[in-house]
Amino acid sequence: MRVAMYYNNSDIRIQEMSRPVCGPGEMIMRVEASGICGSDVMEWYRIKKAPLVLGHEVAGDVVEAGEGVENFKIGDRIVAAHHVPCNTCSYCLTGHHTACETLRRTNFDPGGFAEYVRLPAINVDRGVFVIPDDISYEQATFHEPLGCVLRALRIARLQPGQNVLVIGSGIAGLLMIHAARKRGAGRILAIDPVPFRLDMAKQFGADEAIPPEEDPNAILRRLTEGRLADLVVVCTGAEMAQNRALESAERGGKILFFALPDPEVQISFSVTDVFGRNDRTLTTSYGASPYDSWAALELMRSPSLRVKDMITHRLPLSDTAKGFRLVERAQDSMKVIIEP
Ligand SMILES: [Zn+2]
Ligand SMILES: [Zn+2]
Repeated sequence: MRVAMYYNNSDIRIQEMSRPVCGPGEMIMRVEASGICGSDVMEWYRIKKAPLVLGHEVAGDVVEAGEGVENFKIGDRIVAAHHVPCNTCSYCLTGHHTACETLRRTNFDPGGFAEYVRLPAINVDRGVFVIPDDISYEQATFHEPLGCVLRALRIARLQPGQNVLVIGSGIAGLLMIHAARKRGAGRILAIDPVPFRLDMAKQFGADEAIPPEEDPNAILRRLTEGRLADLVVVCTGAEMAQNRALESAERGGKILFFALPDPEVQISFSVTDVFGRNDRTLTTSYGASPYDSWAALELMRSPSLRVKDMITHRLPLSDTAKGFRLVERAQDSMKVIIEP
């Protein structure tokens, strides 16, 4: 079979690899659609394990089901989570599934930018979901990024009417804006340096969208009759964004770090900025639990959730390198889908 082998952001090669063999309890999925994630083009994060086949936002068909697989059959349209939790450790039992050791070790084989992937038995057991008939493969790939957003909103406990600032309007920020809007958020302000993304942010639910040079607090106060954001979500790894997040949070508000910054990035603040009458909460969310992936699939059945309109490019596997360039350049692309 053909795979797109990742060496670095500017070196992705189409190579031949033997098709994975299906063991007991496992399944082979033919990949129909595979989304490129912002994290796929974070070279410092990915290059450590290169060469490898990336791709974790997958949807496809079951083409083989191993001995003992009972819940799925050949021909089922499915999505598969790449990382799955043990569900029994102290982290899982307290809702911190993404801190689970099992989650860190599990993955499908070789990766979503391939014609076929093997789903290990533990993934089949708790990380595979049938795609509802009214959802296409390309839409279904959003089970992962939207699942991550739903988890973040769950942790932030966003309440209807609360005002939200989203810093960074790439696909993560855009999904955050859209989901927060659907959850009944009050005013939503988006920040991004790229004009195309500011336009998209407004189309998907932001009341205003501004470049980083503008003062978000002045605009928040105008939009909300004097308040700042009840929830600030940092959807970019950019250093300045991490540092500015706290300044735009209302008293009692939350700051949720949702993007992976470079490991060297540090933030500094006075404890009194969060303590006492400021009563601000700093929190984080990474990844999605299987429950969130399932919830994302269910939510997408609502036609008002327009994730499909976030897809700007659909490319064959042979153009994976081009897809990575589009996502890395981040000028006129939002979601890029590879269709192997
Ligand atoms: Zn992703
Ligand atoms: Zn666990």
